[in-house]
Amino acid sequence: MQHPENDDKYIGLTVNSGVSQPPSVNPYISRQRRKPIPTAGEMVEGILRGDVTMLSRAVTLVESLSPSHQALAQEVIEKCLPHSGRSRRIGITGVPGAGKSTSIDAFGLHVLKSGGKLAVLAIDPSSERTKGSILGDKTRMERLAVHPSAFIRPSPSAGSLGGVARKTRETIVLCEAAGYDNIFVETVGVGQSETAVHSMVDFFLLIQLAGTGDELQGIKRGIMEMADGIVINKADGDNLDRARLAQAQFRSALMLFPPAESGWKPEVLTYSGYYELGIAEVWDMIDRYFEFVHQNGYFEAKRARQARYWMYETIDEQLRANFYNNPEIETLLAEGEQMVLANRRTSFAAARDVLNHYFNRNTGNTL
Ligand code: GDP
Repeated sequence: MQHPENDDKYIGLTVNSGVSQPPSVNPYISRQRRKPIPTAGEMVEGILRGDVTMLSRAVTLVESLSPSHQALAQEVIEKCLPHSGRSRRIGITGVPGAGKSTSIDAFGLHVLKSGGKLAVLAIDPSSERTKGSILGDKTRMERLAVHPSAFIRPSPSAGSLGGVARKTRETIVLCEAAGYDNIFVETVGVGQSETAVHSMVDFFLLIQLAGTGDELQGIKRGIMEMADGIVINKADGDNLDRARLAQAQFRSALMLFPPAESGWKPEVLTYSGYYELGIAEVWDMIDRYFEFVHQNGYFEAKRARQARYWMYETIDEQLRANFYNNPEIETLLAEGEQMVLANRRTSFAAARDVLNHYFNRNTGNTL
């Protein structure tokens, strides 16, 4: 019997046969053919032509975790590399609510007024947790989102900060090859992601707010030290005086910092991203910076140093991934951890055991 509840002894209780549910997966979906992945050559050709669909597909490959996608992405990046580098890379940071997206919308439109193309990329360390990245979201930059010369890409979401940052760094190469001569890289000013952004941009802009009376306490000194320009947003309406006061405070705080290696003296300006006041002045400052570092050779020197940095960063990241993603190592690590927690082996000896196993397997050498 299908339903024992329908037995005569259960009076008054009947259970109908269930209605069969439609499958949760559309049975026709398999009929829709997936677009085949273009070859590296096709992709490079499309990117160099400025084809946005091709660029997006290449960026998706860069972000993919699949080894075959990664290999293809590397081939595309390699071929795009000679066509990259000719852009202004600008990092933009600020705490949530500082007005980054509003400002990027305004700055972006200002930049595009004089022609060219703009790519807005993002590094959002939290996107891993929330499974959806916040930064670089098109809906946050309403006017840029519909601008034909703007390309907006949210933060890559999977992996470590190092991995996410590397992907953004590689995406910069692709965007430049596609003719984007202004690249904005946005990040939240709360953690280590600024260091990653700083290591891939020419100019680092810190967006601040006035009005809390403890402006200088909220941000880490290190972030201020990295900034080539500090801009105080929301300098409008009632907030104008407070913004000016904050400007004076930041200026005096900066005077206590050691001089920047570039020889450039970071400037402090006020503006309003929302009411679009002072946008041109912020951009004039950035223009002056580029002129200055092109003249004194710092621009080239910094880019060379960044290229070297990314080589070692990539090695570090790939080594870590290769080590930690290895199932054999995972088991050994779990065992080692147990031994350490039970006080049966020291941390160092346990680490050595695992590393020796890893090195022995890969290179035949041990520590
Ligand atoms: P984000 O989190 O840093 O990207 O900040 P948003 O751009 O989303 O802005 C946060 C809030 O501040 C929003 O409600 C904006 O409308 C507001 N806002 C941004 N820029 C300005 C500005 O220049 N003046 C004023 N008064 N409000 C602003």
